[in-house]
Amino acid sequence: MTYPTQPKASHFIDGAYVEDDTGTPIEVICPATGAVIATVHEATPAIVDRAIASARAAQAAWAAMTGTERGRILRRAAAIMRDRNHDLSVLETRDTGKPYQETSVADATSGADALEYFGGMAATLTGQHIPLGENWAYTRREPLGLCVGIGAWNYPTQIACWKGAPALACGNAMIFKPSETTPLCALKVAEILHEAGLPAGLYNVIQGRGAVGASLVGDARVDKVSLTGSVPTGRKVYAAAAAGIKHVTMELGGKSPLLVFDDADLDSAVSGAILGNFYSSGQVCSNGTRVFVQNGMREAFLARLAERLRGVVIGDPLDPAVNFGPMVSEAQMNIVLGYVEQGRAEGARLVCGGGRIDRPGFYLEPTVFADVTDDMVIAREEIFGPVMAVLGFDTEDEAIARANATEFGLAAGVFTSDLARAHRVAAAFEAGTCFINSYNDAPVEVPFGGAKLSGVGRENAAAAIEHYSQLKSVFVRMGALEAPF
Ligand code: NAD
Repeated sequence: MTYPTQPKASHFIDGAYVEDDTGTPIEVICPATGAVIATVHEATPAIVDRAIASARAAQAAWAAMTGTERGRILRRAAAIMRDRNHDLSVLETRDTGKPYQETSVADATSGADALEYFGGMAATLTGQHIPLGENWAYTRREPLGLCVGIGAWNYPTQIACWKGAPALACGNAMIFKPSETTPLCALKVAEILHEAGLPAGLYNVIQGRGAVGASLVGDARVDKVSLTGSVPTGRKVYAAAAAGIKHVTMELGGKSPLLVFDDADLDSAVSGAILGNFYSSGQVCSNGTRVFVQNGMREAFLARLAERLRGVVIGDPLDPAVNFGPMVSEAQMNIVLGYVEQGRAEGARLVCGGGRIDRPGFYLEPTVFADVTDDMVIAREEIFGPVMAVLGFDTEDEAIARANATEFGLAAGVFTSDLARAHRVAAAFEAGTCFINSYNDAPVEVPFGGAKLSGVGRENAAAAIEHYSQLKSVFVRMGALEAPF
């Protein structure tokens, strides 16, 4: 079946769709059925070169436009995205398997928020005047040049926009390489940006696996790399970027803690744990997968959680009533099943789930393990699937120490009705993004990113501007210049 929103070719370069079927084919598989819904071709070296050359050629004129003009185009693109939210959400659902109930409110809408926010900000990007007695200096906030964005598979539209919007607002060009697992949505972002008036070449999308990403990162014509992906990939990309002293943003994995104190509102805490473990079938980097529940509330929490999980509606993700879809791929499903087996073997108590669902596609049951201990593999490694580990604790100090005893530091959450404790715990978390009595909110107005192995730099908010621009200082002497001879 073809869908009207399917992109017309594998790549989008210099303002137009481009096909080059000499590249290795990549089959796009619908996670809900296992059927092949499209085939794209990996970028050949000639395609990579064409994308880089066109982006470089277009960038200087874009940077020379006023911020108001650049911003107007981004805001127009945001409006088009909102108008097409339904079609874009259907495509996102078919690409990722995430329920339409989620994609219709969280993907193109979040992408449009970024385009609107940075579109609004473009006209406000200025330097500074620095008085120096009779002399003075000023700074110019300038673009970096050509930025490369490399995406993970879980939020293909959002990631394409979260990287593209601030890059373009600052006057850069961007080449975006989506994940090979979900290659379709970013092409629609490119199409919409150009329909909104973006000059050709400024937002190119090329397909490929890691090697294509690596060839972009290693190219001397690229000035910055922003990666969303796993820590092992982050290490490679960071190292390759370092060879060229390139700017980087690294949005990497996590194993985030969620602390529930005895005085928390039980239902809100259970909602936080559900949102932080089962939204997008658990394929969210900031998920709070280590749920530490204070021992006085632990059994009540588990009982209420099991009861609430009976409300899950598993099925065709395009059905608006469905709130839990498949894993993105067979490979990811098998990785998660391996962790479930490991949890069982390590002696964690399986409260619910634990198996594959008997239907086409890559469906897993929402899974909860209790009696998890800190040393278990399921409490240490990122699973990236619908597997919650519940751990007990007694004191606040103990909970903070155990929450922080991880090499990751993407996110952390606390549920409590004690205001002072909430802020004390948030301050003590070693994580870039924290939540009090909430979980996984990611509005564009708030910086998002990780500490420790979870990343470098921030996306969203004014903070992102620092990562897509650089300051030039200009010293100005008003009188004659003297020298010793
Ligand atoms: P991945 O690391 O396997 O791949 C990410 C991207 O990097 C893909 O596009 C891939 O093709 C590319 N890539 C792989 N090797 C490369 C190389 N050597 N050079 C350049 N590019 C290369 O990650 P994934 O499996 O697609 O996504 C899941 C991971 O992403 C999880 O760890 C998750 O936590 C993380 N993630 C983080 C965030 C965040 O904002 N912090 C958001 C979403 C996902």
